[in-house]
Amino acid sequence: MSHILKELDFVSGHNGFLGAKEDYDRAKIVIIGAPMDFTVSFRPGTRFGPERIRSVSYGLETYSVYADDALDDKSFCDIGDIELPFGNVKKSLDMIEEAANKILNDGKIPFFLGGEHLVTYPIVKKVAEKYPDLVVLHFDAHADLRDTFFGEKLSHATVLRRVSEQVKNKHIFQFGIRSGVKEEFLYAQQHTNMYPLEVKTPFLQVLDSLKGKPVYITLDIDAVDPAFAPGTGTPEPGGCTSCDILEVVASFGKLNVVGIDLVEVSPASDLSDRTALLAAKIVRETIIGIG
Ligand code: MN
Ligand code: MN
Repeated sequence: MSHILKELDFVSGHNGFLGAKEDYDRAKIVIIGAPMDFTVSFRPGTRFGPERIRSVSYGLETYSVYADDALDDKSFCDIGDIELPFGNVKKSLDMIEEAANKILNDGKIPFFLGGEHLVTYPIVKKVAEKYPDLVVLHFDAHADLRDTFFGEKLSHATVLRRVSEQVKNKHIFQFGIRSGVKEEFLYAQQHTNMYPLEVKTPFLQVLDSLKGKPVYITLDIDAVDPAFAPGTGTPEPGGCTSCDILEVVASFGKLNVVGIDLVEVSPASDLSDRTALLAAKIVRETIIGIG
């Protein structure tokens, strides 16, 4: 987005993510919100995630001490949220797919803000079409590998199972997983690379082997311990720290990231905005790293 009035260039003309001033046509990375939260099993509310992440982002600096680099020099834009038909899962997923398709066809990197985790499915469908060798990195407390959930194939609890049907066998890497049913872990043995409980150590171990490959990153904020990130629909104690996840994110720039999403931030249970702030910081560090 650009300034509406050239003469008043101190009037921003938009409320996009911190530092997002670039035009869509010139931007390398495109932030877009998918405020969907109607297949969740526990607490709804992630539909308000994208707008909250944007609004608290203004509490951060554009400069990153971690990277010694700043958002100001990065090529990214924020085109706002998709206006979803609430309650209509299929139509919502179709619209997310269409948006992902457009951004990818325009040669850009989509950065989706959720919303619930199911939004990842239509995005990866399109990314995997474009990059048949796609590798998916999945950070989460939950395996999300159920075949169905309450009889539904499309749910935030089945999303990685659906993703596994879009990419080659063993092309998914799962970090931080500490919740699921036995069948999911048996499925993972056959079809994914799962690193239970730990996030930073296994990620840094596999990092070198992933260099150069087209990588899609899906980051469910509940990978982080609810002590640091309580504002999420399905909190699961025992996760990594804020510092751990930021250290992981600092390495995203070493990978060939072709798409990314950050999902499951739920402001209603986010006392003090700490989860949205962590999410905003993850967005900033990612853009600085890959932008
Ligand atoms: Mn998830
Ligand atoms: Mn989760």
